[in-house]
Order: sequence, then C-alpha cells, then structure tokens
Amino acid sequence: MRVKIRVKGIVQGVGFRPFVYRIAEKNQLTGYVRNRGDAGVEILVEGLKQNVDSFLVDLKKNKPPQSRIYDVIAENLTGGNQYEKFLIIQSSSEAELSGSVIPPDIAICDKCLKELRDPRNRRFEYFFITCTDCGPRYTIIQSLPYDRERTTMHSFPMCEACKKEYTDPTNRRFHAQTIACRKCGPKVYLTANNGDLIGVKDPIREAGKLLSEGFIVAIKGYGGFHVAASTVMDEPLIRLRNAKHRRQKPFAIMAPSIEAIEGFAEVSRTEKELLTSHMRPIVLLEKSRNYFLSNLVAPGLHNVGVMLPYTGLHYLLFDHVDEPAFVMTSANPPNQPIIKDDQEALQQLAEIVDYFLFHDRQVAFRCDDSVLRVHGKRRVFLRRSRGYAPSPIVLRRKSKHCTIGLGGELNNTACILLADKAFVSQHVGDVENLETKNFLKESVLHLVRLTNCKAEAIGCDLHPKFTTTMLARELAQENGWQLVQVQHHHAHIAALMAEHNIQEVIGICCDGYGYGLDGEAWGGEILYCKQEQKFERLAHLQKQPLIGGDLATYFPVRMAAGILRHEINIEKWLWTQRESLPHKEKEVEIILNQLKSKKNIHWTSSCGRVLDAVAAVLGVCYERTYEGEPAMKLESLAAKGKNTLNIKPLFEGKTLNTSFLVKEIFVNREKTATKNLARAAHEYLAEGLATLAIEQAQKKGVKHIGFSGGVACNEIITSKIRRIVEDSGFRLLVHKAIPPGDGGTSLGQAVVAGFENL
Ligand code: ZN
Ligand code: ZN
Ligand code: FE
Repeated sequence: MRVKIRVKGIVQGVGFRPFVYRIAEKNQLTGYVRNRGDAGVEILVEGLKQNVDSFLVDLKKNKPPQSRIYDVIAENLTGGNQYEKFLIIQSSSEAELSGSVIPPDIAICDKCLKELRDPRNRRFEYFFITCTDCGPRYTIIQSLPYDRERTTMHSFPMCEACKKEYTDPTNRRFHAQTIACRKCGPKVYLTANNGDLIGVKDPIREAGKLLSEGFIVAIKGYGGFHVAASTVMDEPLIRLRNAKHRRQKPFAIMAPSIEAIEGFAEVSRTEKELLTSHMRPIVLLEKSRNYFLSNLVAPGLHNVGVMLPYTGLHYLLFDHVDEPAFVMTSANPPNQPIIKDDQEALQQLAEIVDYFLFHDRQVAFRCDDSVLRVHGKRRVFLRRSRGYAPSPIVLRRKSKHCTIGLGGELNNTACILLADKAFVSQHVGDVENLETKNFLKESVLHLVRLTNCKAEAIGCDLHPKFTTTMLARELAQENGWQLVQVQHHHAHIAALMAEHNIQEVIGICCDGYGYGLDGEAWGGEILYCKQEQKFERLAHLQKQPLIGGDLATYFPVRMAAGILRHEINIEKWLWTQRESLPHKEKEVEIILNQLKSKKNIHWTSSCGRVLDAVAAVLGVCYERTYEGEPAMKLESLAAKGKNTLNIKPLFEGKTLNTSFLVKEIFVNREKTATKNLARAAHEYLAEGLATLAIEQAQKKGVKHIGFSGGVACNEIITSKIRRIVEDSGFRLLVHKAIPPGDGGTSLGQAVVAGFENL
C-alpha cells in the first residue's frame, strides 16, 4: 500500500526526518520524507499494510525528545510503488496547513557536552557544538522550511568531515542543520571596545579571565548580546550600574554548575530541575545564609536570578577561572530590545564594556533569557522567552477564530491563537517607542509566517494611548483584521481561564496598573468572568490618590502621603521624609498643595501602589528605579518576618480599606520590627482579597477562584490567598504556562477575541 502522511507539530529542527528515515528502514518501507514550508513534515511510505501500521505506531511512540506531534493526517494513495529506497528528499515550499511551528533554542545536550570535554573528539572544545537534539533554532531561522540555507548557518558551508556525518543515517548529526566544527563553523574572537581585534589563542577563556580581573565584556550568544562582569568585585558592578543607568535593578548571573550555585543560594529539587532543563531559564533563588557575592548583584532582595550555561561557549568561559558566577545581563539600551547585531553592539555598548566577545554568526531573531521562580513546588513564569518561545501552550478548547493578541505596555509579548494552540512570542519588553514597537510588529508577523495562520481578529488593550493599541489599529487596517479591545485585568483573567479550561471564575487580579472601564487606574480587582467574553467588576481595593499622577508611581512617599492623608498629620510626616524626595522641601510643599487643591491627582485601586506605600512608610524603598522595585523589596523583607500585628481586613461594602492598613503599619513602625510589619501588610491584603473573592463566589455559586496579575508573582500573598481560598472549599487557579504579569495579557486578549462572535 501507499500512504501519504502529513505531520503537524514541532517537527522541523528536532531530528524528525532522520527519525522517520530510521523507522521507515526498520519497517522495510520505501518512499520519502521532506520538510514543508508550513513547518510540517510530509512522508510517503510504500510497503505492506502491517509494516505501515507499525510505522505509524513508531511515529507517535518513539518520536525524538524535542519534537511534538499535534496531528497526523494519513491519506491512502492509489497506483503502484515508485520508490526503491527510503529517502530524505529536498524540502518543499508548499504551505497549506497551519499550526506547526519551529522549536525554541535548546541548550547543549549531555552528549554534546561530553564531546566538548573529550580531547579525542573532533569537536573538543568547539564552542558551538550541537546535534539534532540541541542548539539554536528559533534565533537562527530566517524562513521556512527549516534547512540550513534558510538559517544564519547558510554562510558556513560544511567541511568534508561534517558533511560525512550529516549524510550518515547512523550518525547523531544526520541532517542536523546546525552541524559545525572548528574548521567550518562559526568562529569566535575577542576585540577591544573600539572593535580592534585582539589576537589571542583562546578568546573565550581569555574573556573569562578578563571578567575575573574586573573587566566588563559584552558576549554574543544565541539570541543577542549579554553584558558580563564579575559577581564578587564591586568596582565593575558600580561601573556597569552607572553606565547602564541601572541603579538597583537586579542582574541575572550565570554559574558554572549546581555545586557552584549551592555555594551562595538555596536550591530546591524543583529549582534544580528547572535550572538543568534544556530550557535553561534564569531561576530566582533564595540567597543562602553564606551568600558571598557582591551586594550590587541583587541589592535589597532576598533572591538572585541564576542560570546555568546553555552553550559550549558559556561553559568554556569558566574553565580557567575560579569564579562562582558571572553577571550575565541582557544587553539592551534603556527601553530598547536586546541587541543582536555586531555593529549595533559596537555603537551602543562601547562606552559600557571593555571588551567584546563576538562570534561571526548572525542572530536572525532576538530572544532574551526566560525567568522563573518557584512557589513551593509550583513554577511561576516571570518571563517566558528563550527555551520556551515559540512552542505553543496547548489549550483544552479550540478557539472559533484565529486571532492575535498584542499585549499591553510593559514586559510585553504577542500571541497567536490558532484552534487550541496559543503561540506566545518571546519577551519583547516595554513597548513605548519606535524600536520596541517595530520589534513587536516583527515578532507578530514572524509568528504569523512561521505558523502559516490566517488571522481574523486582533486583540489589544483598552488604553487609547498605548503604543500597542495604536499598532493594533494599524495592523487591523493593513490586514483587514477585526479589532477587539480588551480591558487589562479581564485579559489577565481570560488567559487564566483559557489555561485551565474554565467557563466561569471569580478572578482576583492585582498589579500595578491597568486602564479601567471608567478610565481610572485599576489594579486591585475582583472580577466575575464568564466564558472569557463577559466580565463584571464586583469589588476592588479602596481608591487612593496618585499625587502628581505618574510621579506617585516613581516616588512611593507620594503614594503613602495620599493614602494617609486623612489618617495622620501628613504635613508633619512629610517634613521628616523630605530627604527621600528628589526636590526636598520644595516637593513637600508641592505635595501638600496638590493634596489641598486636589489638582493633578488621579485615582487608583492598584494593589502594587499600596505595597509601594508600605515600602515607603517602612523606609524600604523611596524610589522606584525599576518596575515593581518597592514591592519586591518589601516581599524580601517580609520573607523573614512574622505577622505579629495581626490586623483584620476592614471592608466598606465591596472595597477593602487600604488606608486602615497603611495607618496601622505607620503607627506601629517604631514598636514592631520592620520585617514583621512587612509581613503583616502582605497578609492583610491577601486575606482581604481572598475574603472578597470568596464572598462573591458564594453569592454567584462559582467554584473557582483565580489569581492573576503581577502581584501573583509574590509568594507570600499567593500562598496566603491559596490557604484561605482552599480552606473555604474553593479551588485556586494560578498560571502554569504563562506569566501572571503583563507578559500573559496577550494570550488573554487573543482568547477574548477568539471566542467573540465576529
Ligand atoms: Zn547535542
Ligand atoms: Zn566541519
Ligand atoms: Fe497587569
């Protein structure tokens, strides 16, 4: 019999054709296998029926580890057999199916790592050693089908030895498109910060040495550049912070091994699994008692973001030095995406770094590192990017339409929803200017091409002035897509519902800011959501004034002053706080005036802002130099505290009184340990929110309560809410596959648009 089989899924760039070849041979079938332009694979088999059947079983059962099969479409053909052998034939550009996608970048596998360290191996110490199971994919693919000539490996013709392996069906690198060696593959070189070549025999280890001596080195990896530095010396970190205008934001670090990490951080089993997984994300780990790295790595925080090397290059960096870790932070100029091109790097980074470690392969597509943390045993995405994107999140329900979600403003991603697959892009960042807007647009269109989808609608935020809202309008017009605007917190909860396949939920959504239906700033919301499309705002945190509008988000003392305006002698307190305001006395007067005249005041129910205010009252943080800073520092403090204050939530109708909370913190600040007050504030909010949600769930007869928004990254609040919700007999839903923060809203928007009746 003759059967044509088309396989949908992640089947290109994962050793799928060689695998098909092997199982066809094993089952004595002839025919061919080839990649298609729609990211799928096409197979023709000829032979006995029982052999074809057993081939189909093998196909699904023994597929390569990195591959995913979504659909196998088999069609019986008529006519006589035409093939004498089984062949891997040239790819076809045909693209009629949609929904397949190329794999994310995969960290160096154990076999390659072993060869990297084996002096007898041909690729001994070759920094870009890869095979069919590992190496870059998403970041090198320019177009489909996935063949070397359509990747940035095209400028590296294989040498004889590599070609031999590439064409040998018994070899691990049979049809490995990233196959390379010292002779034919990308080369690495070191330059001064003006781009002048520095002739050294071993540029990578030399770079490692330079780092250990206190120099700053820009290092080109798979998805762009990192800026690297020592983690034990203050001097380079001070320099780096000054140059990058990053006064406080924590730097991610890379450590050579789990043993090295255990020297300065606590590593649980779940965390270890994550760190060593082939996604190799950055994992936020609790600093251990004997943490000895510079305090400038993650100032004021109880945890530090750590990852393990994910390429040969990164492993070699540590060889000739005795360093516990290196800072390895994404090289992105303020408000711009991660740098990927050499020229761009030379221009943008020359004043920041002392050296560059380049390689001569182009980065086709930028991709930042992923960041996760673990709550108990649960994984929480803070950023879903390298290693994960663009592999889809598989939902348990099919969308009516193919839709796109463009996300919001900060920490943004884009998403394509196609039937039951949500393809969420890599981390795009804060979309506030032309560079990031273009990057977002590029990412969306790239994903559309890669998945070969035909979108019908595009979802975006409700905020009329977001860059992403305007981009959505443009794209909708250019492509004839319907525009669907989705309220920010509704998008958060809709994403959560889609992840759990839930039709009805009471959602607690807490974050810093989201444009509300009434145009006000929301961010501490209890929503009732039904079938993703409908939502109702049932309750929220007390509305508080943002004195001076946006300024209040940067200087938490303003927030505290607003919240406490009727509770304490605000004038007296503000004078004691004048040193923590940039314009000192003058600013105190301005704030008092604004309070009196009620001018330039906006209102917000944001949970993040309440945490900011508590941070200011407790002297934990007076200026937000990065998103979430006061709240993160407050959590770090609370992590070591006990709730000795034990104040009970005060409600006024359907709002949780937050002035009461901040006042209690304020009046106890001299009697009670700061860490205990920080803890009490967390628990007050958690208990208040959970109580409101439970009340509404009981009233509506809803079984599930969900928790989303950036505040759901907070472990203390999340675990307290969980305890209360579960003790009351409800189930608490949290995100599993996407970030609770704004990186998850693109999925929510796509989902709302997808289930809308267009
Ligand atoms: Zn490998
Ligand atoms: Zn070679
Ligand atoms: Fe949000």
